[in-house]
Amino acid sequence: MPTIPRKRIAPEDIRTPEGADQKVLLAAPRGYCAGVDRAVIAVERALEHYGAPVYVRKEIVHNRHVVDTLSERGAVFVNETDEVPEGARLVFSAHGVSPAVHAEAAARELSTIDATCPLVTKVHREAVRFARDGYRILLVGHAGHEEVEGTMGEAPDDITLIQNPEEAKTVEIGNAESLVWLSQTTLSVDETMETVTFCGNGSPTCRTLQATTSAMPPRTGRWP
Ligand code: SF4
Repeated sequence: MPTIPRKRIAPEDIRTPEGADQKVLLAAPRGYCAGVDRAVIAVERALEHYGAPVYVRKEIVHNRHVVDTLSERGAVFVNETDEVPEGARLVFSAHGVSPAVHAEAAARELSTIDATCPLVTKVHREAVRFARDGYRILLVGHAGHEEVEGTMGEAPDDITLIQNPEEAKTVEIGNAESLVWLSQTTLSVDETMETVTFCGNGSPTCRTLQATTSAMPPRTGRWP
């Protein structure tokens, strides 16, 4: 069971300021997504099972309270695998890592615990599959985000990053006959679709193919 306290709000603690006619309630118990919560629990269990130190690549969640609490228990947060002593135990965060990071960890003989969110793993597998099948992949996301780095690392020669509608309008797709888009999972559907919708404003090929995307499930679309 998780040991970091998850705060609950009792009904009697809900106050409505005088004169206000609406209440805003913070969602409880989680302040972050299920994938990150799962990774936090993985670190907690690793600490319980193996003892400190347990190294964690990247801050597991952008939540100072959780990071500080895990640090007090013996988690050591690092940015890269080369900061981890050889042979030590390392947890990969929910946002996933590229094959190159797995290889670096293996070269340092690290004992790894992969807490990558299954939904991120699904995106990785789709990137590999589409690249293998000859698709040009447009990845909607933000440069430098660890999830984007991990996904692009699966098929670096076949993925083009698109960060915003402006980039979508001008993206070069070369001679690609088949296009697919994937997105960073932490983006909102609205933000993703805004960028995807603009894809092709500067490209006749994309504009033609764009018509089929509305039938695709959110967060992944294919132009056959
Ligand atoms: S896919 Fe990404 S945003 Fe969604 S639960 Fe997993 S880590 Fe969180």
